[in-house]
Amino acid sequence: MSELQYPFSQPPQPGERLEVAPGVYWLYFPMPLALDHINLWLLEDGDGWTLVDTGFGTRHTQKIWAEAFDNALEGRPIRRIIVTHYHPDHVGQAGWLAQRFGAPVRMTRGEWELLNHLHSAEDDTVRQDVRHFMGLHGLHGEPLDALSGRGNGFRKVVPIMPPTPEFIAAGDAIEVNGETWRVHIGRGHAPEHACLFREHDHVLISGDQVLPRISSNLTVHARDPDDDPVSAFVDSLTAIKNALPEDSLVLPAHGLAFHGLHARIDALVKHHDEQLSVAEEACEKAPLTAYDLLPLLFNRKLDNNQMMFAMGESIAHLNCLHAHGRATRADREGRRYYAA
Ligand SMILES: [Zn+2]
Repeated sequence: MSELQYPFSQPPQPGERLEVAPGVYWLYFPMPLALDHINLWLLEDGDGWTLVDTGFGTRHTQKIWAEAFDNALEGRPIRRIIVTHYHPDHVGQAGWLAQRFGAPVRMTRGEWELLNHLHSAEDDTVRQDVRHFMGLHGLHGEPLDALSGRGNGFRKVVPIMPPTPEFIAAGDAIEVNGETWRVHIGRGHAPEHACLFREHDHVLISGDQVLPRISSNLTVHARDPDDDPVSAFVDSLTAIKNALPEDSLVLPAHGLAFHGLHARIDALVKHHDEQLSVAEEACEKAPLTAYDLLPLLFNRKLDNNQMMFAMGESIAHLNCLHAHGRATRADREGRRYYAA
């Protein structure tokens, strides 16, 4: 199958819910970002709910939640919160909701550790890390000043940290309303991203690991500068394809629910193969930095926010070439150059 099928053409209104499988409901939260919404998933669980992901950590999201408590949730309590990964649109309201409902939070250890690291970093440390790491990879001038001047922006959109979670891991079974959701782990976009698969009727909550229209951002953090998230992403997607059936109903965090899991994974793997080839060919012509590679990977003008994601993606692909012996690298005058 080459095309994806979208069984639901429209998301629910913010604050409302839409049933997409028995006992599985779609919640839609607009966001003030280029990525203009996130989907959360509400699972019927006895007299209450299990919630998967929580929304961006802003007041705007809390206003939508205030409507959702009465409408989508019918005044019933959230009994348990599962967070797929550490990004602020997923974990942002976990602390607030956990406090309000006295609900436990479940997430993987890898996501919890990175969340803590990013949340607790001092502003000055973040400024220095960004300046050094992005500078090493060739970013300079106004964009570098803008990105490194921000300090810890992460904490602003995760205002309340969730309580220490109950950890989940690959292969765990989570019982919701008497049915088993199995934990499958994705990597590359996040260190230990939880995907949840309901085995009896093949429903997959894929978070950001498998998205229908965009490829998940892959980035390299200053604390792990040699990381190769491209290989991690592709390898874990391949494992998910091998483990889960093609007829799965995929519930992504962004975009519409879809059928066509295997076709979508094939397309994502192909996309990164092509980006690696573009990077390798460029490295063959002349040694270049991750910044030099940007116009070849992204044929559009990048604002400062997009620049941060794009630099991460560019470093990730160069690191992948280096890790696989397809490129060498050398540091000269404070810049890192890759050659093939
Ligand atoms: Zn994400």
